[in-house]
Amino acid sequence: MGIKTGNFKNIGSSYEEGSNAAVLSAIARSAEELTTGKGWPDGVNDLLEALGRATGVSRVWIFQTIEITDSHLTQNYTFEWASAPRYKQLGMPMFSMFTNKINRPEYRETVWSRQRGEWQKMVTNRIEPGWLRDTLEVQKIKSMLTISIMVEDQWWGTLGFDDCERAYDWSDEEIALLKTAGYLISNAVLRDRLSAKRRQFSILKQLTDSSVWEFDFKTGQIWCSPELLYSVPVPTDNIRFSLHKALHLIHPDDRRPLLAAARQYLQGNRKNVFRFDMRLFTDCGDLRWVELIGNLRSGEDGKPEQLAGILIDIRKRKREEQRLREEAVTDPLTGVTNRRLFEHRLQEYIDFSVSERTPFSLLFFDIDHFKKLNDTYGHPTGDKGLCHLTKVLEDQLRGDDLLARLGGDEFALILPKTDQRTATAIGERLIRTVESSPFEHDGKTHWLTISIGLAVSNGKLTTPARIIETADAALYEAKQRGRNRLAVLSGCAL
Ligand code: GH3
Ligand code: MG
Repeated sequence: MGIKTGNFKNIGSSYEEGSNAAVLSAIARSAEELTTGKGWPDGVNDLLEALGRATGVSRVWIFQTIEITDSHLTQNYTFEWASAPRYKQLGMPMFSMFTNKINRPEYRETVWSRQRGEWQKMVTNRIEPGWLRDTLEVQKIKSMLTISIMVEDQWWGTLGFDDCERAYDWSDEEIALLKTAGYLISNAVLRDRLSAKRRQFSILKQLTDSSVWEFDFKTGQIWCSPELLYSVPVPTDNIRFSLHKALHLIHPDDRRPLLAAARQYLQGNRKNVFRFDMRLFTDCGDLRWVELIGNLRSGEDGKPEQLAGILIDIRKRKREEQRLREEAVTDPLTGVTNRRLFEHRLQEYIDFSVSERTPFSLLFFDIDHFKKLNDTYGHPTGDKGLCHLTKVLEDQLRGDDLLARLGGDEFALILPKTDQRTATAIGERLIRTVESSPFEHDGKTHWLTISIGLAVSNGKLTTPARIIETADAALYEAKQRGRNRLAVLSGCAL
């Protein structure tokens, strides 16, 4: 005996019209196209025709639900098969994007039932006289079966069977079979939506460097697409991790804050989007700034089920933020710390000195006769002098020392863990270095000298204002005594 083979397309087309076998074979013939995604939207017309012929109705149609409010329903007539031209309705203005009031009880019941994903059948001459019966009679419909098409738990549309010749009462088996046809349509719509989303996502990915990720609360597993995890593009599928392993891809300093932020998000209003900036290790160990963006899906019991979203490369943004941060605390001419950060850091040095009981010194500098340099040679020469002085001072500093430009020709230098004797020696050395380091501008050589006021804190409680005032008074003293020298007010060790 030979083996017979075939596909659904050519089986069962000879079943008797109106039999369940004919309906089943009609569904089977459309199933392949509609479940593989090839059949949207053309395969739907084939399905409607096959169902129409198999069931013997006058018309098979699909209304798509466009908008539903408490009082109104807007639908669009999107697909139709009619057994004869006189039964055609598609394209009639009254069925194109039409809005009905949901004010009559029998219509409201029908709409609610469709929203619940149910089927509805009616035989016109068995309906009580009234609006619904009138509506069906006007359309010359003797019986009707409607099946709700649900997509992602939403009422997407309605599959309808109008019989204008028979007052037909559909059996449970027939309804069950036709409901299956409804599922095929749901599936085709869902597939179409997914492929549209996939297309949108691939456009998004071309515009931004990003990965997609998902965390499953039940399994504790994470998957992530590879784009941001690799330094060069690789044709790899999504990568799966345990939560523990995924955390190891994150910079150690960002792990706890991430978990804390996630905990806070889960305890708060979960409707917001979860966002977190963090550093990620790529495959070659480089760090990359990324923003983690995610949305939570919870189960019916309110328990979180899945947190999913995208990772976006934000290296550019972080570089810009860093630039702005540095600008806010840096003197633009000389590049050293500005007054704002100096005052903030001074408090930190004082706190450290008090807690460690170590002294620290503050030197206030001011260029001698700087106005004269500006007035004689011009502002650009003065600017060059300020930059030159900064460079000379920076070359003399130790790692922990902090040099700041307070404004004009005034600078401050904090020397941590430094007592008066050492600070005086350092100050004297700086004075000598500056006086013996001329700078050139516009072909001319210029010499600068500085005066220094010294304040020393001996690990006792003091305030920034007090110590600045002391250094300032000492500087005044140095100027009074003839400039190009250092002064420390006697008895002013704080
Ligand atoms: P003294 O020895 O008493 O310090 O005399 P001085 O001429 O240096 O006087 P003072 O410190 O009061 O003057 C500071 C001058 O610094 C005034 C201003 O012309 C100049 N100045 C302030 N900011 C800038 C700047 O950004 N660039 C330049 N070129 N000059 C500046
Ligand atoms: Mg000066």
